[in-house]
Parts: sequence; C-alpha cells; structure tokens
Amino acid sequence: MTTEPSEVASGDALVTALIGAVHDTILAHRDELCDLDRAIGDADHGHNMARGFEAVAAASDEIAALPFGKALQKIGTTLVMKVGGASGPLYGSALMAAGKAGEDAPTSLVEVVARLEAAVDAVKQRGKSDVGAKTMLDVLVPVTEALKAGPADPLATARGTAAEALEATRPMVATKGRAAFLGERSAGHLDPGARSSELIIDAVCDVVEGR
Ligand SMILES: [Mg+2]
Repeated sequence: MTTEPSEVASGDALVTALIGAVHDTILAHRDELCDLDRAIGDADHGHNMARGFEAVAAASDEIAALPFGKALQKIGTTLVMKVGGASGPLYGSALMAAGKAGEDAPTSLVEVVARLEAAVDAVKQRGKSDVGAKTMLDVLVPVTEALKAGPADPLATARGTAAEALEATRPMVATKGRAAFLGERSAGHLDPGARSSELIIDAVCDVVEGR
C-alpha cells in the first residue's frame, strides 16, 4: 500500500477544518450580526447562527466521519433544527442541496461551482427570492457567477466578489424577510444574511488556502 495515513484522513480533516473555521468566524462576529439584524430586523441573526454552528461543532467528529456530501447534508439538517428565524431553513437547504451534488469532496473549481449552484437554487426556492431583494443571495449569486467564469485566482475572486457584493446590499431596499416591512428604511444598512454568507465564504477560503 502506498497510501499515507494523512491522505486517508484528508476528507475528514477537510470537514473538521471547515466546521472549525466557520464556527470560529460566526462566534467572533456574533454581536456584529445581531447589530446588523437590529437595524433592519429582530436582532437575533448572530445568536441564531451561533446556536446552529455550536450544534454543528459539537457533532464535528460524527459529521467528519461521513463522506463529504453526506457531511454537508448533516450540517444542513443540523442548522434547520437548531437555527431560529429564516436563516436556519435557508442555510440548511443550501447545505443539503450542496451535499446532494456529489459524495466526494470537490477536486476542481467546476465541482465547487456545481455545489454552489445547487445551494443557490435551493435558497431561491426555499426563500422564494432572487438577487436584488437584499438577502444572502446577493452575496451567494455573484460569488457563484464569478467562480463560474473560471478566474485565475479563485480564492481572491471569491473573497473580493463577496466583499463587494456585501457592500452592494447597503443601499438596497429589502423586499424579502422581516426587513421588507421597513420598506425604504431598510436602505443604508448591510444585510445581516449577506454578511454571514460573506463571513462563511471567507472562512472556507481560509481553509482551502491553508491546505
Ligand atoms: Mg432575525
């Protein structure tokens, strides 16, 4: 056998690293996410996301033992069960759909994009929404499109596009979710779900970069 133990464990290690990185960034930005949600919603997005990823982190070993696609699905179902508000079902649907796009961890940008497209479609369906409504889709869709173009530096492209797309939610008037009740008054604030999506994309990029 020429397979090194580290190669055998690489799938598990990837999932463990992804869960750890996303959990860390959500906890680190918990108050900021609540503050963003306070401005245009009900101030609970940070707490909701933290509760969800605490549950995911607590089950990290169990999840990491699964094949990559099944691991994403398990993270998704955990978020649906643990995260209150709209973000649980939305992030949960995204991860379940991304997980169903294939059993093995992606080995190419094309495979990453396929999972992102599945996730975006699931969020659109679950939220009955699309770009321009001041939601997480306003980050997820531009990042997916930018990566689909096959950029020379996918990590820099993902990070840069996510940051620009997040900022672009600030002047938007919300037409979906609780913020839609504010109408024009929702303009002038970043969307909390767009911010959590950007944080997650950044964390995933950090993990990929470190490998
Ligand atoms: Mg909320």
